[in-house]
Amino acid sequence: MNDVVQNAPGAVHAAGVSIKDLRKSYGSNEVLKGIDLVVAPGEVVCLIGPSGSGKSTLLRCVNLLEQPNQGTIHVGGFESTDPDVDIDKMRRKVGMVFQQFNLFPHLSALQNCTIAQTKVLKRSQADASAAAMKNLERVGLGHLADRFPDQLSGGQQQRVAIARALSMDPELMLFDEPTSALDPETVGDVLSVMRNLAREGMTMLVVTHEMGFAREVADRVVFMDGGVVVEEGVAERVISAPAHARTKEFLRRVL
Ligand code: ADP
Ligand code: MG
Repeated sequence: MNDVVQNAPGAVHAAGVSIKDLRKSYGSNEVLKGIDLVVAPGEVVCLIGPSGSGKSTLLRCVNLLEQPNQGTIHVGGFESTDPDVDIDKMRRKVGMVFQQFNLFPHLSALQNCTIAQTKVLKRSQADASAAAMKNLERVGLGHLADRFPDQLSGGQQQRVAIARALSMDPELMLFDEPTSALDPETVGDVLSVMRNLAREGMTMLVVTHEMGFAREVADRVVFMDGGVVVEEGVAERVISAPAHARTKEFLRRVL
């Protein structure tokens, strides 16, 4: 028995994800051209690559916002193309945080974190509020639970969005450029919440241009370009010594 994990305040039940030969087209535009990617339970993988390379589409396929044309996705014992799969149950394993936080403007931070719990998971209001408060405290915002989105900074709103996702008890978290829309002074707080989540053992697939975060927190970095995985490896190695010319060129522009 691992005491550290057992006693960690936010100890999570983490699932891995396994993607095989994933293909996705919009009309005649093939955006994902056969992606193979495995993220082990508890692993943190940063996905980097130029705009238009298919990173968001890949994440949207993993949480089944998009229907792949071909290929398989395994998450937490579920397989997306299994005809008997319960898509709603599979989707519930996966939490997602977007560049635009998409909070409900007319709901408080707390209510933003309870609404899907009561509507989707059918939790009682009391149970949902307790889980929401626990997760707002986890992202350092317990004291602002009654604020509305327009009374919060961008970084605080994004932390509410993370708390909202965590309140659904996901086993895998997807982040799509979570700090790209933020004022520079609020980026650090969001990255620090993500760093803590990684330490607690959450499986995370993170699209980001924050190379400092990738280097420090990610177990692996995956570089995508033109709908394919061009290069992947240990974060430090890919960032410091990329093997592929296209990775070098990309890093030269973002570092
Ligand atoms: P990235 O996140 O790496 O910038 P995206 O996955 O957003 O890349 O987009 C990859 C390609 O897919 C782009 O050429 C984009 O225009 C196209 N695309 C993305 N979503 C759609 C959509 N809903 N309909 C049509 N084309 C799309
Ligand atoms: Mg994108």
